[in-house]
Amino acid sequence: MQRRRIVVVEDEDNLLEALKYNLTKEGYDVSAAGNGREGLALATEVWADLVILDIMLPEMDGLDVCRHIRGDSDVPILMLTAKGEEVDKVVGLELGADDYMVKPFGMRELLARVRALLRRPRHDTDDSNAKVLVSGDLELDPSSHTVKLNHVNLDLKPREFDLLALLMARKGKVYTRHEILDRLWGQDYIGDTRTVDVHVRWLREKVEPDPGNPERIVTIRGVGYRFQG
Ligand code: CA
Repeated sequence: MQRRRIVVVEDEDNLLEALKYNLTKEGYDVSAAGNGREGLALATEVWADLVILDIMLPEMDGLDVCRHIRGDSDVPILMLTAKGEEVDKVVGLELGADDYMVKPFGMRELLARVRALLRRPRHDTDDSNAKVLVSGDLELDPSSHTVKLNHVNLDLKPREFDLLALLMARKGKVYTRHEILDRLWGQDYIGDTRTVDVHVRWLREKVEPDPGNPERIVTIRGVGYRFQG
């Protein structure tokens, strides 16, 4: 079974490190951000199974991040609040957060909540809230986890799907190999950026009319890759 991916958005370094450590130890893939803006980008670009979101964050607060995520996703959101932020907590739940924890909390309790949230059925997996990404005859549907080329289903491996989804969600944006590695494999992945090149090559063989002369997943020499179209 594919590892579940959790996006953690928290600006307190110690807590962020503790969350990353414990979640990774439990077998989850963790992508982390230290401010709201970065957190929102992660939560929307990476196919997260769960988002752990602090409320008081630099750049964009957790409530705004929550509202934006809910604009097109039903991913479970667990909010973290400091003592005395009771009002925010209520607003957070109204904005669509699924659960909240008041700091300081025990890691065991947090891991139990995470497991419970991940067990819940997702709504957006069947009622297709998530946007279908289209480029010419190529269609990626996040809700059904399918990719079609000229109406024919492609058989993509999970990482290939994630990679294509990441690139297609922001057409024209150049991703460095390190960014792609962090987003899809997590910051603690031991391995190098050649992993990214290999997956790009496999993906091109499936989605490019002429894999030797890619028109969709374009190499930006010395930088990384971008989706064109
Ligand atoms: Ca905070």
